[in-house]
Amino acid sequence: MRIARFSIDGNVAFGAIEGDKQDELVLDIIKGIPFADFELSGTKVPVSKVRLLPPVLPNKVVAFGRNYAEHARELGNEVPDAPFAFFKPSTSVIGPGDEIQYPSFSEEVHHEAELAVVIGRMCREVPRERVKDVIFGYTCANDITARDVQKREKQWARAKGFDSSCPLGPWVETDLDASDLTIQLTVNGQQRQLGRTSEMIHSIEDLIVNISEAMTLLPGDVILTGTPAGVGPLNVGDEVAVTIEGIGTLTNKVVKRG
Ligand code: MG
Repeated sequence: MRIARFSIDGNVAFGAIEGDKQDELVLDIIKGIPFADFELSGTKVPVSKVRLLPPVLPNKVVAFGRNYAEHARELGNEVPDAPFAFFKPSTSVIGPGDEIQYPSFSEEVHHEAELAVVIGRMCREVPRERVKDVIFGYTCANDITARDVQKREKQWARAKGFDSSCPLGPWVETDLDASDLTIQLTVNGQQRQLGRTSEMIHSIEDLIVNISEAMTLLPGDVILTGTPAGVGPLNVGDEVAVTIEGIGTLTNKVVKRG
């Protein structure tokens, strides 16, 4: 099931998406929130009549770095032998169609297409064989990075945590085997990144075992799983699109921060 979060007439709700043609998609409004038991209301609205929002409002976004060997090498980094994570704050999250605001303190902002895992239930110290039980679904993410700031500051709070640096969407796909999906990114229609999730050094299971060893994960929390090779600069005016097989396309435009 594809579950979107949206606003209509000033109200925010979740809905299950029906249909396949992009311009004919319909939302069946969900009663309550999709993490608990929920029912479809049967009240339907066309997607074209609503504004899609970030599909979840995470308490935290935990992002893993250098999880594709070719990407680690393209930036001159060693391939790490253990997973390592950093945070992106909840205020960095934006939705499909929202604007990425180019920050004033950077001159080199990069795109990073990533598979995002959405957590469905509160959990800690998740054993490998239970990981599938804590996953709600998957969405597309763009780990927008001020690369110049990342190079000069030891912690990445500013480089990877500025407002609008975590586009998520367009919805969460709950029925998906995410172990071998095509992940690609275009800028103004030109392909920049292309990889497969099977190229991850540490699997989704590894990453969730690793982070849940340290902290409690909450429903709606998001885990970013690393980016394939081909990262590069974004400029004001660019349109950047992340497409993941079986999920959909997340498109955002880059604007100057006002
Ligand atoms: Mg990244």
